[in-house]
Amino acid sequence: MAKVGFIGLGLMGGPMAANVARNGHALTVYNRTAAKAEALAELGAQVVSTPRAVAQASEVVITMLTDAESVRAVLDGSDGLLAGGHLGEVLIDMSTISPEQAISLAGHLAAHSWELLEAPVFGSTGPAQEGTLGIMVGGERRLFERYRDLLACMGKHLFYLGPQGAGATAKLAFNLLVGAQVASLAECMALAAKGGIELQTMGEIVLASGVVSNLLQRKVGNITASDYAPAFPLKHMNKDLGLMIETGHALGVALPVTGAAHQLFSAAQASGYGDQDAIAVYCLLTELSGLGKTSPREEGET
Ligand code: NAP
Repeated sequence: MAKVGFIGLGLMGGPMAANVARNGHALTVYNRTAAKAEALAELGAQVVSTPRAVAQASEVVITMLTDAESVRAVLDGSDGLLAGGHLGEVLIDMSTISPEQAISLAGHLAAHSWELLEAPVFGSTGPAQEGTLGIMVGGERRLFERYRDLLACMGKHLFYLGPQGAGATAKLAFNLLVGAQVASLAECMALAAKGGIELQTMGEIVLASGVVSNLLQRKVGNITASDYAPAFPLKHMNKDLGLMIETGHALGVALPVTGAAHQLFSAAQASGYGDQDAIAVYCLLTELSGLGKTSPREEGET
């Protein structure tokens, strides 16, 4: 069993790290907000107060952070991962970043004798808890083979895609479907509501139809229950849409629907919905259409 470090115990990283611990790996964890590490301590993980201490205790370190900037924030500086690593250490970055950022990260790590396996995921907090995520891997195949069992603690669909950047490309291409479907469901429900259709009934129509998916099922439930607690925070969806547009520009691929979705999510984030679930774009649409402000359900309310 490998000595594993884990940094970033948020909505996704917390349950993913828990699955690594439950599978018997010696786990050392760090999170910027220390309270989020308590659940891992209960599972036997060693909790440390700097990324540097994570590197000192581990042969392989997993990061599950917001974006490329936050990954760099835990790498650099006197308390950073790079300050505590040893020759040949491996970083498995599972955060959603762009292909360009993954390639640049690999170069930065190589300059410090670290290697990178980029391994972004599909699936939200449910699959993260169940250990059934999809994991899209870019980097050296030998590293993928070395850490296949470790990745399998967190995901049941493992895809090796090729060199650095390939994991990020597949992740962003996939996630484009999520952004567009969440945006179009929000528009569908707002149009129905303004036209006098009961939300519950419109939800039943969507769920009885051929377009239904796990994603739409969950998001219809969110709207009809006015439950916008984040599973996938809106600000992260918006970040990913921006990365898709940049990647489309870099590759010369037109993404007009993604562009429209990005505008919608940007407006929702600017209107204060960033920390709520991605489906809170519905709240912005109802506001704009004169249906009034949708008040998210208070915590504890049923
Ligand atoms: P989250 O709950 O917001 O967690 C973000 C994590 O990053 C937290 O541990 C946070 O620490 C840490 N962080 C952010 N900035 C930092 C910095 N400057 N220095 C140190 N730590 C920092 O987000 P999440 O939903 O788990 O998402 C994590 C990644 O997975 C994102 O790239 C997201 O796009 C991707 N993803 C999410 C989902 C989903 O459904 N949620 C699905 C697939 C992929 P604090 O606790 O101190 O804030």
